[in-house]
Amino acid sequence: MTASLNENKATVAEAGEGRVRDVEVLIVGSGFSGLIAGAQLRRSGRLGFTIIERADEVGGTWRDNTYPGAACDVPSHLYSLSFRQDFSWSRSFGHQSEIHRYQREVARAEGLYDHIEFRTEMTDATWHEEDRRWHVTARRLDDADGAEPVVFRARELVLGVGALCEPKLPDIPGIAGFEGEMFHSARWDHDADLEGKRIAVIGTGASAIQIVPEVAKVAGKLTVFQRTPPYIMPRIDRPYAGFEKALLKRVPALRRIVRAQDWLLRESQVPGLTTGAEWTMKPLMWAHQALLRAQVRDPELRAKLTPDYRIGCKRMLISNKYYPAMARDNVELVTSGIEEIGPHSIRTRDGVEHEIDVLIICTGFHVTDSPTFHLVHGRDGRSLAGTWGEEGMEAYKGTVVHGFPNMTVMMGPGTGLGHSSMLQMLEAQVRYFLRRLDYRDARGLDVADVTAEAQERYNDWMRDRLKPSAWVTGCSSWYIDDKGNAPAVWPSTTTRFILEHRKFDPKAYDFVAAG
Ligand code: NAP
Repeated sequence: MTASLNENKATVAEAGEGRVRDVEVLIVGSGFSGLIAGAQLRRSGRLGFTIIERADEVGGTWRDNTYPGAACDVPSHLYSLSFRQDFSWSRSFGHQSEIHRYQREVARAEGLYDHIEFRTEMTDATWHEEDRRWHVTARRLDDADGAEPVVFRARELVLGVGALCEPKLPDIPGIAGFEGEMFHSARWDHDADLEGKRIAVIGTGASAIQIVPEVAKVAGKLTVFQRTPPYIMPRIDRPYAGFEKALLKRVPALRRIVRAQDWLLRESQVPGLTTGAEWTMKPLMWAHQALLRAQVRDPELRAKLTPDYRIGCKRMLISNKYYPAMARDNVELVTSGIEEIGPHSIRTRDGVEHEIDVLIICTGFHVTDSPTFHLVHGRDGRSLAGTWGEEGMEAYKGTVVHGFPNMTVMMGPGTGLGHSSMLQMLEAQVRYFLRRLDYRDARGLDVADVTAEAQERYNDWMRDRLKPSAWVTGCSSWYIDDKGNAPAVWPSTTTRFILEHRKFDPKAYDFVAAG
């Protein structure tokens, strides 16, 4: 892997001076991470930044996940930027197309389009000690094969590539030989004809439970292959009436109240997730049980849909449509485990052959093993993947990594949430980044590298916090790595994360003075 990826690395000399670009800050990705970083840099008067984006529009996850039914599980006024609340949401929980429109509006209003180079993909980022710069090699996707890459020489690197961006395909024997239509939930094939077809969905996570009700409406037969049932709660979602929209648009105080109320409600779940206080989750458990009982009459199906692990261990989901879809005559829930995929069928461990025309893969993303980790090389030449290979992924405050100076990892290790809005976490990370730049500039410093000791202390604290948490009670999820640790998840309230990122803490860093 490393050898082939290194072929993508170009030195400044190889790239040719015409293809070398000096920038103060290079931001990789224009999803919410890149948009927040760019907007706040601009607002602070730092205009020397460039955002590179491999697609041809901003948006990241919300641009790519166009599957039918795609919508957010966090209410609109909370799942929007604190500094861009003046958007007229059509309903209490935003749908994908509306969230993507919001992102485009943010990019336009914050003047970010002038900073973005689209269809430009990072193939390598290496820290160079001699000029104290990140050399980021990028490929222009519209260039002819063999064209020279561009090298951005950047003082600061912001990795905004997202945690849920690299689709994960299941390692099931025979999958490559499937001859029907096959696509991942995050790469929806809008040309695929689903009408009357025999369709299979593998996976029952957040994506699948939104897809299943939509596909069930058109499929001849839909077979859902479930490994573990999720906890599903009612979705208290509705369109806003005209007067509500008008009021929310014109009265900022009202938006703040709605946002604060959504925020507090979600923060109240934290003790139940992070401590042994499982009883605090009882109301959610009752809501789940009531929904399942009301929507699924068949006791056998209900038993199959009933989770047998601690609530909160996997992400809790919300839907009013999933259980009714599972109870439809044209939908079958299969729980016997997949043995093999044939050219036109899936064989389960009980020996049954399920004939299918279309296979929809809803098995999530590479989170703790993202391919991007192989592309970024720090002080000792090792990649992030190499550095994290033995111990698992680790950062300081989820944002900076020892040995990778002047780098900010958006949505880094230990920032994932099971209960609230990631946008609050991203805004906190960007605030911390800007405080570091202020500190650097005020003292004439050039390089800041978090110390190994500070990072170790921080991660010891994280590990202690995670021990009694719901996430490590035995279920599988994208929070957990292959060692059974939960390095992806933040084990406290978003409030605490925000407070911890309000100020820069120079004692945790080694610095090199400019010059
Ligand atoms: P996911 O939550 O990781 O779910 C993956 C599903 O695939 C699980 O049911 C898993 O089963 C199953 N699976 C994985 N490998 C399998 C295999 N080899 N054979 C059979 N089944 C397999 O992925 P996702 O649904 O795409 O969601 C990912 C994250 O994206 C969510 O947690 C959420 O943060 C975000 N998201 C949010 C929304 C929203 O806000 N509404 C919507 C979509 C996604 P096991 O449970 O047994 O592992």
